[in-house]
Amino acid sequence: MAPIPQEYDFIVIGGGSGGSGAARRASGWYGAKTLLIENGRSGGTCVNVGCVPKKITWNFASVSEMLKDGVHYGYDIPQGIKFNFADFKKKRDDDVKRLNAAYERNWSRENIDLVHGTAIFKSTNEVEVTEKDGGSALYSAPHILIATGGYPVLPKGIPGAEHGISSDGFFDIEELPKKMAFVGAGYIAVELAGVMAAIGVEVHMFIRGETFLRNFDPMVQHTLTQRYEDAGIVIHKNHKGFKEVVNLKDGKPGEKSLKLIGEDGTELEVNELLWAIGRNPEIEQLDPAKVGVGLKPKGHIKVDEYQNTSVKGIYALGDVTGQAELTPVAIAAGRALSNRLFGVKHPKGGEHLANAKLDYSNIPTVVFAHPTVGTIGITEPQAIDHYGKDNVKVYHTRFTSMFYDFHPAEEKKLSPTEYKLVCEGPDERIVGMHILGPGSDEIMQGFGVAVKMGAKKRDFDSCVAIHPTNAEELVTLK
Ligand SMILES: Cc1cc2nc3c(=O)[nH]c(=O)nc-3n(C[C@H](O)[C@H](O)[C@H](O)COP(=O)(O)OP(=O)(O)OC[C@H]3O[C@@H](n4cnc5c(N)ncnc54)[C@H](O)[C@@H]3O)c2cc1C
Repeated sequence: MAPIPQEYDFIVIGGGSGGSGAARRASGWYGAKTLLIENGRSGGTCVNVGCVPKKITWNFASVSEMLKDGVHYGYDIPQGIKFNFADFKKKRDDDVKRLNAAYERNWSRENIDLVHGTAIFKSTNEVEVTEKDGGSALYSAPHILIATGGYPVLPKGIPGAEHGISSDGFFDIEELPKKMAFVGAGYIAVELAGVMAAIGVEVHMFIRGETFLRNFDPMVQHTLTQRYEDAGIVIHKNHKGFKEVVNLKDGKPGEKSLKLIGEDGTELEVNELLWAIGRNPEIEQLDPAKVGVGLKPKGHIKVDEYQNTSVKGIYALGDVTGQAELTPVAIAAGRALSNRLFGVKHPKGGEHLANAKLDYSNIPTVVFAHPTVGTIGITEPQAIDHYGKDNVKVYHTRFTSMFYDFHPAEEKKLSPTEYKLVCEGPDERIVGMHILGPGSDEIMQGFGVAVKMGAKKRDFDSCVAIHPTNAEELVTLK
């Protein structure tokens, strides 16, 4: 006899940012009977191998930078202050574990049933879970959400590539390598390379073009690439790729030794190699295509603006869909979906939720580089393409923050702050804002609200400046 599935209103596959956001809204707010299936550590990528440990490491690196800055303010800070990276890593791991537990506490408090195991589609409304202990169970629901995220890829076809690590492996490093190579030009490569350089590792970046962050405004690309070079990072530009990675010596990063052999025959020995060349959607085990869920060419799940897949009752959001791969995006999409599915008839919701969906336009985002970068909207070239050159006006400034007043002139030059506003039409509606410099991460969030509301240049001008700040330059641009 076929097993009888346990029935739920809502099954959520993946307890990361998106899955958690959707499940908590469905169960915690609207009382939908919700099952959450997670086959890894609760909280997903962001909590375990993404935003959280990354930002903590960025904070760690910022302390190191601040110690150097302190000297210029007259602090008697000895050169070469030692730190214990293994100790820091342990603290960071403990913090992540605390968050894993907090996620599970919240789910339990909001009556979400959690199953630790791997979900596989059995039919369009049934999911089988292979649990950690080897057992399995069948569950069914009229609404099933795929929020299985993604994973970092290693290159195929390069012998020895497996001797390198991915961003996941970055967070296992206990002992710092002396010399480390990063392959990739996206924000993950830039962030992880940046922290390593800031704490004294000799960093080599390999990029295909002249600049990294190729999807960002040219101002950000050029200034940040230059800034990294000025900070001593060796950037191997226009790199043609690797022929082979030779494992010279196994061991911990301090002892490990790899030889990178380029397609052009150049060789470099490093103690660690990190591939940051992209992420794939996590769908292999789940196999949604088996029940008819349509996929995009790179395997991401195809969804409409309401996160509906091609199968009625199956939804997808977050990284597995390849849409703006950011934690708050996944959470917001998850909440919007649960509002639409369970909130319409609920006293806490209402009819207005019948068309609830996430607006993917004007999503502010930050690169935790050195210095930080904030961006919202479109780049200058995109604006020109879209509106025509004559309809686009750009405001730009570059200056040195007052923070560097006591730094030697040559160091000052290396610490630019640069802002750009991209405006459209006679009203000068702000369609792009790109900022680079100290505090850009925090500045961006507030200005993001204004841009999202459709702010015009004159709105910025009418806001009285806060002096002395870096951000005041944004409301006094000429
Ligand atoms: C190094 C790094 C730094 C980042 N920094 C930032 C940042 O600063 N800010 C930001 O906003 N974003 C950042 N991100 C991106 C952010 O982490 C992701 O966009 C976000 O976690 C996506 O959420 P998600 O719910 O789609 O997937 P995930 O958080 O990846 O969750 C998916 C979950 O599904 C589980 N799962 C997968 N398959 C199955 C299955 N078959 N059965 C059961 N469970 C399954 C996985 O174990 C995982 O826990 C970073 C990412 C990385 C890699």
